[in-house]
Amino acid sequence: MAVDVPIVIIGGGVIGCAVAWELSRDSDGIFLFEKNPGITTGENQTSRNSGVIHSGIYYDQETRPLKASLCVKGNSLLYDFCTRYKVPALKTGKLIVATDQKEDEVLDFYLERARENGVARVEKISGSRVRSMEPNVKACSALLIPSTGIIDPVSFVYRLHTLALQNGVEFLTGTDVNQLEVYGDAIKMGVSYSDKKRDQVKAGLVINAGGIEADNLARLINPLLPYELDYVRGETYKFYGHKRPELRLAGMNVYPTPTAVVTPYGRHFTLGVHLTPTFESLSYPPTIGSTITVGPKLVPAESRKAWSGPSVKPEVFVEAVHSFFPGIRKEDLIWHQSGLQARLKKEPDFVIMQDPKAENFINLLGIDSPGLTAAPAIAGRVKAMVKDLL
Ligand SMILES: Cc1cc2nc3c(=O)[nH]c(=O)nc-3n(C[C@H](O)[C@H](O)[C@H](O)COP(=O)(O)OP(=O)(O)OC[C@H]3O[C@@H](n4cnc5c(N)ncnc54)[C@H](O)[C@@H]3O)c2cc1C
Repeated sequence: MAVDVPIVIIGGGVIGCAVAWELSRDSDGIFLFEKNPGITTGENQTSRNSGVIHSGIYYDQETRPLKASLCVKGNSLLYDFCTRYKVPALKTGKLIVATDQKEDEVLDFYLERARENGVARVEKISGSRVRSMEPNVKACSALLIPSTGIIDPVSFVYRLHTLALQNGVEFLTGTDVNQLEVYGDAIKMGVSYSDKKRDQVKAGLVINAGGIEADNLARLINPLLPYELDYVRGETYKFYGHKRPELRLAGMNVYPTPTAVVTPYGRHFTLGVHLTPTFESLSYPPTIGSTITVGPKLVPAESRKAWSGPSVKPEVFVEAVHSFFPGIRKEDLIWHQSGLQARLKKEPDFVIMQDPKAENFINLLGIDSPGLTAAPAIAGRVKAMVKDLL
């Protein structure tokens, strides 16, 4: 069967762009279809996240093995990429703080998990050491995780995009994929463009990196797939440190002790509302600024289009952080952003799989946090799958 294009990637968020760049280093004939008007314009998870380079400490090997391994691997690949291509990123380190004895015991559990997952140089430190690092943070003990950091996600995607372009990837923005069908050895795709014109494209191989739409796209090819989006969004406020200099943070990521939450779809842990440093400016090398983000708080979303906010009042955020960041008031918090997560019902891990009926259709489902961190490692994994198919 003659195909129009060898490889199509659906979705130009960080995952689609990372896959495009990774594949373009060895392959030609790659097209990326993105429904937003531009790669760094429009709503998606990549433009609405916290910009934290996670260490990989949270995910257990039993229920989240892919998140565990791809986050740890992605963490070091991401720092290497950012150094090589001058993307603003800083290894700030992170504190997971305990405010009482019960939380202190939970830290031991995560210290063990750090060892299981191969997260390097994590140690438990005393409350006085926490104060020497972050004088305005209150804790009786903490886990110190040196490999956590921050990145500017938009600069990262922009760099991936330009590198992929240089390697010959064709980016078709304003291109919405709305029909998919197995067509002999190919995948037939119905697309509509921003000028409302429609077209059909036959692709030899399709990679579904559609973020919060990936489950819908997967079901167009295979209605029996069990994966379904869990409508959740993260809401975030920000705190201008220069307005309350007595409360300024030195520049570390500060997280509460994780707690377990029971949802209709099973038991999840939650990272909790946390404090994330931001850059002063995006010049290179970047420096830490005085603004921090406070959040995200995960709340149910009414639809896949619920990008704007807020739905939760600042008091709730103050309440969530006051035990370890006392002194913050509701009038200190300014609305920052909300972002829908590609979290799946019933499946807590990333799902990276060829469709059982069409091996040339690769699904990337449930790529919620830590997808930004894991992006380079996810791209490497997809490349290995593609190599076996070509
Ligand atoms: C609030 C929040 C905070 C987060 N914080 C972090 C963090 O600190 N660190 C971290 O590592 N991760 C974090 N994440 C997770 C991270 O942002 C995501 O895992 C990552 O951005 C996923 O990228 P993606 O490319 O898969 O999806 P997206 O960025 O959502 O991109 C998918 C793209 O596919 C396009 N698309 C969808 N359907 C179609 C179609 N039919 N045709 C054409 N195009 C289509 C969309 O327009 C979109 O641009 C966070 C996520 C959220 C929401």
